[in-house]
Amino acid sequence: MRDFDGLRAIVTGGASGIGLATAALLADRGCTVACLDLDTEVEKPLIGIGCDVTDDDSVRAAVTAAAETLGGIDIVVNNAGIGAQGTVADNDDAEWARVFDVNVYGMVRVARAALPHLRRSRSAAIVNTGSIAATAGLPQRALYSATKGAVQSLTLAMAADHLAEGIRVNCVNPGTADTPWIGRLLAKAADPVAERAALEARQPTGRLVTVAEVAAAIAYLAGPSASATTGTVLAVDGGMQGLRPRR
Ligand code: NAD
Repeated sequence: MRDFDGLRAIVTGGASGIGLATAALLADRGCTVACLDLDTEVEKPLIGIGCDVTDDDSVRAAVTAAAETLGGIDIVVNNAGIGAQGTVADNDDAEWARVFDVNVYGMVRVARAALPHLRRSRSAAIVNTGSIAATAGLPQRALYSATKGAVQSLTLAMAADHLAEGIRVNCVNPGTADTPWIGRLLAKAADPVAERAALEARQPTGRLVTVAEVAAAIAYLAGPSASATTGTVLAVDGGMQGLRPRR
């Protein structure tokens, strides 16, 4: 399928996990893709551009460089994000500011810099990576969940603001996905095997979500076949949000 032929995308956090899988899928389907990340090591045909989403100058420079290299920008995948653990009692103000800076303000900075390019596109779309943590109360995730709730609300507000400009804005909420991030979390657990089993058991499907499954959902929302879809939140969570199966 070459449904992205002629389209140009930037993917933040595109050097790892969900971002990398999305960038590779879009490229396979004909898109030219720049991965904007702290880590610039990506394989061809992906183009790595250094970017720190917490730094407005860095974001503006990276988006300008991407637009010049790709010849414009049609698609923004706002995916860079970091985790945080604990209750409201466990993280200080500096940590709250740090995680919001990446997970929420980072998306704002990237969208703001990319908007002039998206306005010139014939098929403009933004897809934000949210989380099941936006819509379900998960223990020990107060700060992270608050950022992803903000991502979901921001998605709706942006979809309304940019409707008339023909820029669609949607969000994907993954459940626990098998990425290097989760690998790092498991490595820190007292019993990584038991911790992985607990995460799998939390999914109604009994397994973690794959990066390919999340990438496919992001690509759908980013692409021309979703041209009537804006302001939606697509759960890719193995049924975790909506289902209450009997065991
Ligand atoms: P990952 O750690 O594998 O990849 C994240 C990438 O973001 C890395 O390449 C990292 O370098 C980049 N990044 C981090 N801070 C950055 C910054 N300041 N500027 C630019 N790039 C930066 O993580 P992942 O699991 O693929 O997560 C991607 C997104 O998916 C995140 O927004 C995360 O919240 C969301 N998510 C992940 C899961 C999961 O279970 N893995 C579940 C729900 C949502």
